[in-house]
Amino acid sequence: MRYQLRDEAGASRSVAYLLMGAGPFMLVTGVILPDHRSPASVVTFVLLTFLLCGAGALCRWRPERVPHVFWLIAPFFGIGMVSVLNLATRDASTGSQLFYLWPVLYAANFLSRVVNYLTIAMVSAGNAAVVFSILGPNVGLSDWASLTVAMMLTAVVVASLRGRNERLREVLETQAYADPLTGVANRRSFDGALARAVESAHRTGEPIALMTLDIDHFKKINDTWGHGVGDQALQLVADALRRVARGRDDVVGRLGGDEFVVLMRTDRMAARRAADEVRAAVSAIETLPGGPPGLSIGVAVLPDHAGTVIELGAASDAALYEAKEGGRGRTAMAHPPAPRHNVDQVPSATFTS
Ligand code: GH3
Ligand code: MG
Repeated sequence: MRYQLRDEAGASRSVAYLLMGAGPFMLVTGVILPDHRSPASVVTFVLLTFLLCGAGALCRWRPERVPHVFWLIAPFFGIGMVSVLNLATRDASTGSQLFYLWPVLYAANFLSRVVNYLTIAMVSAGNAAVVFSILGPNVGLSDWASLTVAMMLTAVVVASLRGRNERLREVLETQAYADPLTGVANRRSFDGALARAVESAHRTGEPIALMTLDIDHFKKINDTWGHGVGDQALQLVADALRRVARGRDDVVGRLGGDEFVVLMRTDRMAARRAADEVRAAVSAIETLPGGPPGLSIGVAVLPDHAGTVIELGAASDAALYEAKEGGRGRTAMAHPPAPRHNVDQVPSATFTS
């Protein structure tokens, strides 16, 4: 998103520390250091100190009470504050201009590219108002140009570091959540996706289907053609599953060995058709020396066959087991759970080859 905030927790901490630092700074520069001070200025600075520290504490410990939009406009607020204070104190020194670093670093770290450009433009405008009015046009121009360039370079460096960090994080996330051989979700990320899908199905009432698949006699492929061909078979099956499960929220996973799972936001009939499509896609594999691998598939649907994540997994697993027991190379659809008064009776699955 164009104006997206990247890390609200980090942004709120950053604003909090700025405000909690600015409070005591006001006290030192406005009350303790000046040789001459009026009672009115002392009261103003003390009040400002408390106000800034209080706002900082709110951002640090109760950030959820601050409206979301504040984290987006914080740099502009900061630029306004620095410019007004520099103008009010007639201070155009390098020290006072360094305060512009905060909004620049904040925007480069937490906000989008568009907001970064806006921040640099606002810093440049705010600083122009200060230096031209205090230093005059000639000294002001060189001062303004050097600060604008310095801030732009700072923003570029920080934004590129942030880009590198984000790419690194994506790589680590992919490694942590994907199966390295096939690229589909590993067990951990699939379990997470399934739990979230079941939660959302409970909220919306929409069905979800869980397909559990296992290659038939996979060990024989390894033993006959070698581990490399076995790996290739796993990759080709994963590709076929990905082609079938192409819905936005569909997830393909590998639980380990030759066992795969597919999560789809579909009802029983569509899940049944998807299983047929998987079977057709796998039997069209032509590049394996021993021909396309056989596949057993178990399908369970929530709410038809299960009400919870565990029940759904167990129903799909039981259907797969029965597909294997029934002779392999077939799809078994789970049956509705047994009624409560008859829990010991295990329902049999229906087979289709
Ligand atoms: P079934 O029809 O009952 O499913 O028999 P199967 O031979 O497919 O099942 P089994 O569980 O006995 O064999 C799975 C084999 O998968 C055993 C293991 O050596 C092999 N395997 C597990 N992970 C990998 C892998 O990453 N690559 C390869 N090539 N083989 C693997
Ligand atoms: Mg197998």
